[in-house]
Amino acid sequence: MATKLLLTFAICRLIVTVGLTLDPTELLLLGVDGQLSVDPTDVETASLDFGLLTRAAPPLAVLHPASAQDIAQLIKAAYESGFGFTVSARGHGHSINGQAQTANGVVVQMSGLKRGSGRKPPQPRVWPRERYVDVWGGELWIDVLRSSLEYGLAPKSWTDYLYLSVGGTLSNAGISGQAFNHGPQISNVHELDVVTGKGELLTCSEEQNSELFHAVLGGLGQFGIITRARIPLEPAPQRVRWIRVLYSNFSAFTRDQEYLISQHAEQFDYVEGFVIADEGLINNWRSSFFSPRNPVKISSLDPNGGILYCLEITKNYHHSTASTIDKEVELLLKKLDFIPATVFTTDLLYVDFLDRVHKAELKLRSKGLWEVPHPWLNLFVPKSKIADFDKGVFKGILGNKTSGPVLIYPMNKHKWDQRSSAVTPDEDVFYLVALLRSALDNGEETHSLEYLTNQNRQILRFCDEAGINVKQYLPHYTTHEEWMDHFGNKWDWFYQMKMEFDPRHILASGQQLFKPMF
Ligand code: FAD
Repeated sequence: MATKLLLTFAICRLIVTVGLTLDPTELLLLGVDGQLSVDPTDVETASLDFGLLTRAAPPLAVLHPASAQDIAQLIKAAYESGFGFTVSARGHGHSINGQAQTANGVVVQMSGLKRGSGRKPPQPRVWPRERYVDVWGGELWIDVLRSSLEYGLAPKSWTDYLYLSVGGTLSNAGISGQAFNHGPQISNVHELDVVTGKGELLTCSEEQNSELFHAVLGGLGQFGIITRARIPLEPAPQRVRWIRVLYSNFSAFTRDQEYLISQHAEQFDYVEGFVIADEGLINNWRSSFFSPRNPVKISSLDPNGGILYCLEITKNYHHSTASTIDKEVELLLKKLDFIPATVFTTDLLYVDFLDRVHKAELKLRSKGLWEVPHPWLNLFVPKSKIADFDKGVFKGILGNKTSGPVLIYPMNKHKWDQRSSAVTPDEDVFYLVALLRSALDNGEETHSLEYLTNQNRQILRFCDEAGINVKQYLPHYTTHEEWMDHFGNKWDWFYQMKMEFDPRHILASGQQLFKPMF
């Protein structure tokens, strides 16, 4: 009780003294096991994200929690205090549009260890017999993988990039080429510990507090802060055969992708794809896999100068089955209709495959090309309209400049639990189209942030006018009407859950979904 009062007192002081330098000794009064910081570096970090598009007014303070109890105390103080302030969890800050920021509130920095701090959140705990792992909400997926591999186990569903937090991806969906088979990461959770917007720490699952469980999964941080997730594991494959094949015909490409996701995992374990529109080397930060000594020119494969589509598939295996993998892959490839002689194959450790994007990150960082604005647009496009999207966007609006990888791969809706907060198109199969663009200040108009941002608007307008009912993934809207439209028939339930679990609208205000009520 005394600790709670001290925390409330200190937060109120923060609010009253906003703009003034806080006496560091005051932090000692806070009584949390972690650290409540007003260090300018912490505050600056918490007002930025990967998108580098939005710089919100800075938060008042940043909490580096040592435990779920620290977070519960903070939120309770926000909920009960007469002043009121917002609280946003920040995972690894890999949002695009300020979703983990909060102006004039407190950011809870879930990922990353605070230098020199005392107690830390718990490490992943693997339960090998039960085949699951308990992880802190701010844990990065790369560390979940490393801990599980010590027991020869691994989670089943991934994102392409592993330096994302468990709480951050579970607040969206968490998708990659395994989602067609295992569903998104939100379909692969046994249990959560969540601190609600009232400061209550609750355990939830299918059986216990099930409404909270489903609301939080894909819930954009609106109902609570995930402090622990129990993730199911499977025996980890040892190696991966990674294959890319090219198409110039879009319908052959999507036919093969849809065929592959209709099959079970005895086929391929991962199905993705991307668009190659820029002339020249088909290398970008997501496709370094093609040998630079063997550049593939689009014009050499498609004399009409059109665009190419690359299907990306993998087959996992163990050393014990290494002798049959060549034959297996050859038989599977026989069923596909790609351009002959465009098979690119590589073979690597499972962990290296899963961690592939990090290698690209390091390269881009070394060239100063990672910390640049990222006007990304991620859309779920219904299968029935994907050909219209190809004509209007890939072959139309984009021209032959993509300014970054453009991913396209289908998923099965039945692998998504409809009781979660995540929103998908109303068809059995839908595609992720991810325009992962980087804006550069290099004098070229088509690389500029303004150009790419306008192009994103043009794409959304085109979809609207062409009757392509896309749903944004990692959605970004600023008006109430747009959000209601996004959630469609889930809106009433979503609102009801908000009123139940965060009635003062304290949490995740950076999503711009609900106005704080104080
Ligand atoms: P943040 O950006 O810090 O937070 C995102 C939202 O979740 C915020 O609203 C925040 O308040 C809330 N939040 C964060 N932690 C918690 C918590 N513990 N409890 C409750 N709410 C919380 N996504 C995919 O699905 N597949 C991919 O392959 C993929 N690849 C990516 C590659 C890169 C290079 C980048 C930058 C992003 C990628 N993403 C991908 C998107 C990623 O899933 C989102 O950025 C997501 O938000 C996770 O990032 P984060 O952990 O940094 O969360």
